[in-house]
Amino acid sequence: MTSFNTDIQFLKGVGEKRAEILKSKGIDTVGALLRFYPRDYIDYSKTTPISECPFDQNVCIRARIVTDISEERKRPGMVLYRFTADDGQSLMEVVLFNQKFLASRLHRGSEYLFYGKLGGSFIMRSMSSPEITETGYNGIHPIYRASGSLTSKMIERLIRNALDSELPPDPIPESVRESNGLCDLRFATQNIHFPRSEESLERAKKRLVFEELFILQTGLLMLKSGRRAQSGAIIKRDCSEEFGNMLSFSLTGAQCRVIGECVKDMMSGRLMNRLIQGDVGSGKTAVAAALCYVTVKNGFQAAFMAPTEILAEQHFNTLCSMLGRSGINVSLLTGSLTKKQKNEIKAQATAGNTDIIVGTHALLTDDVAFDRLGLVVTDEQHRFGVAQRARLAGKGNNPHTLVMSATPIPRTLALIIYGDLDISIIDEYPKGRRNIETYVVNSSYHTRIYNYIKKFIAAGRQAYIVCPLVEENEELNMKSAADYYEELSAGVFKGYSLGLLHGKMPAKQKEAVMREFKDGKIDLLISTTVIEVGVDVPNAALMVIENAERFGLSQLHQLRGRVGRGEYQSCCILVSDYKSERLEVIRKNNDGFKIADEDLKLRGPGDFLGSRQHGLPDLKIADIYADSQVLRTAGIAAETLLNEDPSLSLPENSALKSSIDALYSKMIQN
Ligand code: ADP
Ligand code: MG
Repeated sequence: MTSFNTDIQFLKGVGEKRAEILKSKGIDTVGALLRFYPRDYIDYSKTTPISECPFDQNVCIRARIVTDISEERKRPGMVLYRFTADDGQSLMEVVLFNQKFLASRLHRGSEYLFYGKLGGSFIMRSMSSPEITETGYNGIHPIYRASGSLTSKMIERLIRNALDSELPPDPIPESVRESNGLCDLRFATQNIHFPRSEESLERAKKRLVFEELFILQTGLLMLKSGRRAQSGAIIKRDCSEEFGNMLSFSLTGAQCRVIGECVKDMMSGRLMNRLIQGDVGSGKTAVAAALCYVTVKNGFQAAFMAPTEILAEQHFNTLCSMLGRSGINVSLLTGSLTKKQKNEIKAQATAGNTDIIVGTHALLTDDVAFDRLGLVVTDEQHRFGVAQRARLAGKGNNPHTLVMSATPIPRTLALIIYGDLDISIIDEYPKGRRNIETYVVNSSYHTRIYNYIKKFIAAGRQAYIVCPLVEENEELNMKSAADYYEELSAGVFKGYSLGLLHGKMPAKQKEAVMREFKDGKIDLLISTTVIEVGVDVPNAALMVIENAERFGLSQLHQLRGRVGRGEYQSCCILVSDYKSERLEVIRKNNDGFKIADEDLKLRGPGDFLGSRQHGLPDLKIADIYADSQVLRTAGIAAETLLNEDPSLSLPENSALKSSIDALYSKMIQN
């Protein structure tokens, strides 16, 4: 008998060749096949009359074939089979592509079930390549994500064979199943593929979604409590008020609250692992500076990391100007220094003469040995996942960790991406920050837009134009930064100082362009989304975003946050020839959290954060947005269980423990 761990090749019906195809889809064991869930189901007991079918949605129609099946050879390798079917009230045409075997088994005069999308015209509805089944079929049937020679029907057959296998012990402990009304693994596996009824399918789904989110969250909580148990530098004196008094502005209520939350962590004797979420412009840097101040005044050193050199330099300048009068010693370590300069700075850090070192993430990999490192601040780290953080945490001594993210992530998602961190939110903007006027226009407005840009430049301001592409040939009809730059420099903006910035440029060159823009030497910067992250050019007051429909909502919001950072009334123009609700969301809202929520709803978590950038494991069945209720109950269940058995050492929890280990070792490998 096969078991969950049996190599897929040895499952009945597979063999060497199919095994290869299955393995290329990540299905390498019988267990993985059983976890290959249907993408949809056909309910053959629910049929719809042809005349009442909605357009372009999957429907099931019961109809009789009323014509012969014609065969048309379109070109070599392409044969169409065509016939008409009648459901007693209306007719529809059915077309099959190259499905000789299927066509040969259909008979004029017999009745079948047709599952697929109905299209065609009002006069003649049609279905192409539907699933066709004998009417004797009943109940709910799975549809699998087919690909190439691997059809849904074949996967179905293999799964039927696999269902005889021995299942592993249930990863959800019985007590948890009981208190949450969940079915067991056997029932769930059977019914997610071949549901006995709609209720059984719901029960199976509920359990599997719960399982996925439960394993994930239990693992995150263990990671979190493991870190909490570690001790960190003890801060004895809360001197954050002194810091506030040195500033030229007064901190917002939210900034003060978040500083307080962090200081409390750092005074507790345990290690701080905290995320600060705050929209662009909410003033995260000042919060980080306050904590660096407190750390240093208590006799420790701090490290401040940014994703790019330019941001590191910006933070360095901010820290110097905020802390300059306090006698605190800040230094900047970047890749552009000579080896000798670097060594000198490192030596100072090791000797304990430097209080704060600012640098890029390379600070972590660089062999900087601190004398008494108390705090590490990481800016804009939303591209780091749980796994990376786990890896970083393993490095050297145990400083407090503060992560700052400008991507407002909806709470549900934050629970998973940052589930190993405590979260503080800055939900207030500094006073006097003006709203950025936002407009949505189509491309017929270009002349007016160019004039508007010139007006801004004439007033001494700078502007951005953001394009979705680097080079033209990638896709048609879309503005590319490089070509647009050429076009504008030689045309409308001849005589102006233009700059070009995109991700394919070498890092050094990018930094150089950004610096020129910062120094006011460039009036108009044509760019791709590389400017998205954190750069502060207060004099830039206008942003034009071309092909705005191509960007995610959160991304548009981030981009827009590059303007409105100074004292000038700022403006953002979204150019798009498509009417869309989405752009209206941006136009009407300035609240990043609200926008993020809409975005997540529209696109799902994968797209929301950009592919593979989020460090989230691939969820097979759970949908963080749709299943947010289950996410919560599974989180509570995880917490309850860990209260009783923090290290999952009881025998009834050992299956859960191994599932968590397997999941996290896979995530860390990725
Ligand atoms: P972000 O959260 O996007 O990183 P920054 O820390 O760069 O935001 O702050 C944006 C701007 O707001 C900076 O110029 C900063 O000096 C200013 N700022 C921060 N806090 C305050 C405040 N409480 N009052 C007025 N200006 C502030
Ligand atoms: Mg910032």
